[in-house]
Amino acid sequence: MLRAGNVGLPNVGKSTLFNAVVANAKAQAANFPFCTIEPNVGVVAVPDNRLNVLAGITGSIDTIPARLEFVDIAGLVKGASQGEGLGNQFLANIREVDAIVHVVRCFEDDDIIHVAGSVDPERDIEIINIELALADMSQAERRLDKARKELRTKKEAQVEVDALEKIVPMLQEGLPARLANLTDDERFSIRSLGLLTLKPVIYAANVSEDDLAEGNAYVEKVRAIAAHEGAQVVVISAQVESELAELPESDRAEFLESLGAKEGGLASLIRATYDLLGLQTYFTTGPKETRAWTITKGMTAPQAAGVIHSDFERGFIRAETVAYTNLVQSGSMAAAKEKGLVGSEGRDYVVREGDVMLFRFNV
Ligand code: GDP
Repeated sequence: MLRAGNVGLPNVGKSTLFNAVVANAKAQAANFPFCTIEPNVGVVAVPDNRLNVLAGITGSIDTIPARLEFVDIAGLVKGASQGEGLGNQFLANIREVDAIVHVVRCFEDDDIIHVAGSVDPERDIEIINIELALADMSQAERRLDKARKELRTKKEAQVEVDALEKIVPMLQEGLPARLANLTDDERFSIRSLGLLTLKPVIYAANVSEDDLAEGNAYVEKVRAIAAHEGAQVVVISAQVESELAELPESDRAEFLESLGAKEGGLASLIRATYDLLGLQTYFTTGPKETRAWTITKGMTAPQAAGVIHSDFERGFIRAETVAYTNLVQSGSMAAAKEKGLVGSEGRDYVVREGDVMLFRFNV
């Protein structure tokens, strides 16, 4: 399962957000074994209204959402790359995630101390990014030395040298490796380094409830930085999310409306993470359950079947496939078939977002 992890300075709202994510996941799907694997790792549901619609059409008893792992990574402080604070432990935790949710404090509250004395998203983001870049730098420099030596006897080392010659100067300036325009081959050649600053990032701008609807000047600063990095921003109020998670589902919309906000920030954050990871969803549906399955973009029908069970991939014959919107518009599987909207797809079919699939396979 793919993993996203929270990073950010102390007291920016990371734990509040993490607890809300986990509480919300539990509340959303009582029939699903949500758990906190370790104290700081939770499994969250990817919110998706299509599940209930499909369940309504096929009469499913249960719905099972797609899942992501969410990790609360203990606070990073200035000097972590030199072993300050939780330093190395922190960096080891980030190496294991597939995407980073960088929580930035965009709320003022005199009662909550800011580690650097004031609210300043630009400075905060820079502190974190520099620590991550420094941690990557020593690794990348060592690897570059080694690759240059290898190049004397091994021509294939060239692609690695090229990649690292692009990355090292950026890291030395405190910039993320993500901004170096690597070719696919270059990126592949250094994948085993697990560079922190190559991981995709979402900035979560944590605002007070009053600013949830309109944002504020701090959020604009985060947006400017994210735009420069080609990263996404989600505006969220960790405090509001933790209150929402305590409310019954039926009262949530009203509470959000009273704040002038439409969708829960968590839902957008989880969806944005899902997109960032290059993931998409296909569905299986029947009287027993409707289920969302996670695949990476570009997977073929047999590969998608393999996500359910490796036997399905090995024995794949065909997949009866209908697009979600076509099924919903038709009102039933039988009606969709009558209209010729259900395809019988073979091994080369590339699965599309929202496909509803039924696999035929040999065991
Ligand atoms: P962490 O150190 O980044 O994990 O931060 P915490 O989640 O522990 O939050 C630090 C403090 O800030 C706690 O007292 C939270 O209640 C508070 N806090 C978090 N988010 C908000 C917010 O949106 N508004 C306000 N006023 N306080 C918040």
